[in-house]
Amino acid sequence: MLLRVLKGQGYRCLGPTLESGAIVMRELQSASALPRGLQAEQAPAHYRLIPDPQNRYFAWANGPQAIKPQVFAAEESLWRVGRDDQGKLQFEAVMADIPPVAIIGVRACDLAALSLQDAHFLREGRRDAQYASRREQLLLVAVQCAEPAATCFCASTGDGPTPLAGYDLSLAELAEGFVVVAGSEKGRGVLVALNLSPATLQQIDAARQQGEVAAAAQTRSLPARNLRDALMSRLEHPRWDEVAARCLACGNCTAVCPTCFCHAESDEPALDGQSSLHRRTWDSCFGESHGHLHGFNVRPDIRSRYRQWLTHKLAGWHDQFGRSGCVGCGRCIAWCPVGIDLTEEVAALTAGEQP
Ligand code: SF4
Ligand code: SF4
Repeated sequence: MLLRVLKGQGYRCLGPTLESGAIVMRELQSASALPRGLQAEQAPAHYRLIPDPQNRYFAWANGPQAIKPQVFAAEESLWRVGRDDQGKLQFEAVMADIPPVAIIGVRACDLAALSLQDAHFLREGRRDAQYASRREQLLLVAVQCAEPAATCFCASTGDGPTPLAGYDLSLAELAEGFVVVAGSEKGRGVLVALNLSPATLQQIDAARQQGEVAAAAQTRSLPARNLRDALMSRLEHPRWDEVAARCLACGNCTAVCPTCFCHAESDEPALDGQSSLHRRTWDSCFGESHGHLHGFNVRPDIRSRYRQWLTHKLAGWHDQFGRSGCVGCGRCIAWCPVGIDLTEEVAALTAGEQP
């Protein structure tokens, strides 16, 4: 029903589906493509789908993708330059024609991450045209997490597991169906078209309690306070060497992280030398070239790259965006091939500090 209404209102619908043993966001043709009856068992360097005894649609915590790839493309052209009849250079933005897109199954941590991406890409005076064009077309259907994975800690960062803000519609899945809440005018338009029966007080309360139980079930956490001073005063802590000895500098953590926004830009000149395309691709602070300045590298070893990642995410973001850059999704823990766990690293680095 929801898909039919969204499609009827002109939305291209993306949602979770099972692909290669993981739950990923793909175009949804029908509700039968949803990963019903699955939970995602996650642990450091571990992601496995297991049956959900209650056969729910959204009992899996999250997959490797958040909303990020839908707004900040992994690879895209930003502008092209060519010569006009007089031989003068002419610059032109490359803008894709983006249809309205509805994303179904968005988690609370992903909404929080999107708002951080907005703060970066839509900041005053530096609005990113490509990001903005995709962002404006989004309608977000969030889902409360009832089964957080062992890697989740969104309750400690204050970002979940119940969607708090930034959604157009929010669903809580109960045994008898869904409690649906609208969070915007766009969402209200969809809700009216769905023509649902009003939720009972018992159902609303059951949804609230389900969120509280999910929050209490989370076993990992980050300290809620600003870790800036604690981390920045330990830049020479021996733990950085220990984590560097394990880290492969593969960049998986930054690729799956819904808040990481580093990118590289490059030019692709045409063979005839008359035009050139300016491209942007995701980059990672774990890559060797990321710290390369003219003539030297400011982060020549893995120790300095891991330290850069963690201190930027949990310290520098407070200065840039007024909060930490971690929303507690746990993806960097599950998808790290050697199981490095940032909550464990933070605990080791800040041992002896006030909680
Ligand atoms: S740092 Fe890790 S847990 Fe935090 S938002 Fe990024 S991927 Fe999620
Ligand atoms: S922390 Fe893990 S995922 Fe991140 S670069 Fe190191 S090995 Fe790769």
